[in-house]
Amino acid sequence: MVRLSNKNKLQLSILGLLLTGLLASATVAYYQVRSSMLDAVRNEQFTKANAATARLNLWLDQSLNLVSSVAQALSESDEPLEDNPNYQFFARQVVNSGQFIYISYGLESGYYWSHNWQPFPGYDPRNRPWYLEAKHAETPIVTDPFVGAGETRHYISVAAPIVRAGQFEGVISGDLTLEFVQQTILGLDLSMNATALLLNREGNVLIHPKRSLQNRSLPGLNKDQLRQTLATLDQSTLLETSKDYLMITPVHNSGWLLAFALPKSVLMYEIYQRTIVMLAHFLGIFVAVSGLFLLYNRQIITPILTYLEQDSVTGLPNKKHFKQYVTDQFLEQKRDGILLLISTNNFSRITAAYPTDTVVELQRAISQRIQSHLDRHSILGVFSESRFIAYLPLSRECNEQTRLQELDALIHELSEFYPIHDQQINCSFRIGVSVFPQHGHHLELLIDKAFAVMASRSKTEAADIGVYKTDIDAQLGNELLLTSAMHNALRHQEFYMEYQPLFDLEQHRFTSAEALVRWYSKELDRQVSPAEFIPIAESSNLIISIGNYVIDCVARQIQEWQKDNINFRKIGINLSPKQLQHEQFLPNLLKTLEHYQVSPSCIELEITETSLLEQPEKIIELLYRLKAEGFGIAIDDFGTGYSSLQYLKEIPFETLKIDQSFIRNLENNPKDQVIVAMLTNMARALDFKVLAEGVESEQQLRYLQQTDCHMVQGYYYARPLPADAVGVMLDPETA
Ligand code: C2E
Ligand code: MG
Ligand code: MG
Repeated sequence: MVRLSNKNKLQLSILGLLLTGLLASATVAYYQVRSSMLDAVRNEQFTKANAATARLNLWLDQSLNLVSSVAQALSESDEPLEDNPNYQFFARQVVNSGQFIYISYGLESGYYWSHNWQPFPGYDPRNRPWYLEAKHAETPIVTDPFVGAGETRHYISVAAPIVRAGQFEGVISGDLTLEFVQQTILGLDLSMNATALLLNREGNVLIHPKRSLQNRSLPGLNKDQLRQTLATLDQSTLLETSKDYLMITPVHNSGWLLAFALPKSVLMYEIYQRTIVMLAHFLGIFVAVSGLFLLYNRQIITPILTYLEQDSVTGLPNKKHFKQYVTDQFLEQKRDGILLLISTNNFSRITAAYPTDTVVELQRAISQRIQSHLDRHSILGVFSESRFIAYLPLSRECNEQTRLQELDALIHELSEFYPIHDQQINCSFRIGVSVFPQHGHHLELLIDKAFAVMASRSKTEAADIGVYKTDIDAQLGNELLLTSAMHNALRHQEFYMEYQPLFDLEQHRFTSAEALVRWYSKELDRQVSPAEFIPIAESSNLIISIGNYVIDCVARQIQEWQKDNINFRKIGINLSPKQLQHEQFLPNLLKTLEHYQVSPSCIELEITETSLLEQPEKIIELLYRLKAEGFGIAIDDFGTGYSSLQYLKEIPFETLKIDQSFIRNLENNPKDQVIVAMLTNMARALDFKVLAEGVESEQQLRYLQQTDCHMVQGYYYARPLPADAVGVMLDPETA
């Protein structure tokens, strides 16, 4: 189903209204044209029918007079009728007037005389149609067309009975070929392909341009009804057959009817054509008038149309338009993305505290800040006075992680003061996030979920981002969830440090400690292990923020321990490859240490071999600079990655931490024993220290002591502990 925006609906309604008007005009125009054309056709045919019938009438009247006068002369004389030269002379004179081609008469006695035609033997006038019709009519008549004797030509006779002293004696007839009448009828010039035809009162066609229709009853009409109508017809009448309009006019002194047949299709075509021309005129007028109207009123109309799709304050798409746009452009196109609901927590307080124009300015400023963080593929809309809604499509370059990272920067900027009308307005925001298609296939569902997240968050003044949790796509959901929770954890300072003391086997005491980050997430309501969240933080830039936070905590802790005169060799800080690659890593590190007045020599930076996978030269150079600054460098988890003796040559490290996987089965696995022994021997020779990670048992410890390992770390001596507890363990006086 096609969904339309309010603007489209209005535009369509207006268009619909106009089209309805046009349709109504078309209907009126059609009927108008139709009735006027029918009138015109009727008038034309009426005139032509009258003219044609007048001609026929005149001819028939004259013919009947002539024949009647011959008949009368014959009737009134006493001379014998058979073979009388006087009568024949008289009759011949009549033919010579040009009215007939033959004249003849037949008598009851069987005598037959014809001018200009020799009857064949056996010819009997008493059987001829003209004779029989006139005999029965007993008055002068015009016959229907009949076939000439021994011919195929059709004739029409004007015949009159010869009656002497009340006794029927015979018939005199003036003959005419049918062509003569046909010429009169078919020669008529009629418009619109109309045809003229001659009918008799029986409804049979006497003359028709199509010979095949001659002598047949008129098609397209009920025969009985037609006969009834024609029997009494005495003036021009309009009849309608299935195909034609028929204008029928009686011809006087005969049983003939002159008919003009106008094909309905031709008339309709004419009517349609004229209607279309008329409509084109209407349309032209309508377009011109509407154009002028729109032009003249554009200042009024444009804002109305815009108002239907946009929010009047921010100019962003309004809720309805946003929903429709996102559904059409993203959800139906199956373009994955994240939906944001951005809510201003303290909006009601702001509206209470500031005048309307300030609030309006604020809404605009907020919308601009949000907009400046969205790329051109994303869309932002207004959900309500205090809420914005956005859809950020995902792509290969822009995955969930990147998007959430952008949100972090967004909420950060949104939370800064808004300088409006000489005032600094402080707003706090919550962002609810749902993911398409994981959290729902319909926009309403996604909005519900984003709302659900917001509703579940505390409405404190602190900025907050929450992603909807779902069990459906646990993997993706969990990563997103952790990412979003980590963002909030940084803001709410949920990260803290524990320290695991390192035991020096030569000095028989704890000389150092490794700083290990800890996180209890309120949002997830559980302790999250760094083994779980560090890899996820590493896949986005979050690790930089977490890393900086760790450095800050550790530096502050060292400062405190130093103030308490706690003596230690070094505190280990774990570094991720991404941290090392970050341009600002060294300057930031030095700045932090300076801030807390901590010397680099108190710190051992733990790196793994994976740090050298990308840009090894650059990293090695950085490591040399770090060493030059006084930092200690340790290779962590040695043996797990892409261990290469080459690195041992190139990296300026001073401690090698053998991964706990080599220690776990040390007492039973001879291979592990060989490796550990080899590494410690090498350490002695090359002058670095070896530390064994994950020492849990006395047996492991004993073996390590035998191989002259320098240091151990593990639950056997101490678990990672809060700073205070570790401080006590490091303090030689209390140790
Ligand atoms: P890691 O640097 O190798 O840290 C040692 C890990 O081994 C710690 O796990 C520690 O609790 C654990 N461990 C110590 N002794 C024993 C033992 O006797 N038995 C066993 N089974 N485990 C022992 P944790 O704290 O879970 O840290 C895991 C990893 O997370 C660390 O491995 C490190 O790679 C990373 N990590 C921790 N804190 C940070 C940090 O602040 N920054 C960075 N970049 N990574 C960190
Ligand atoms: Mg470590
Ligand atoms: Mg390790």
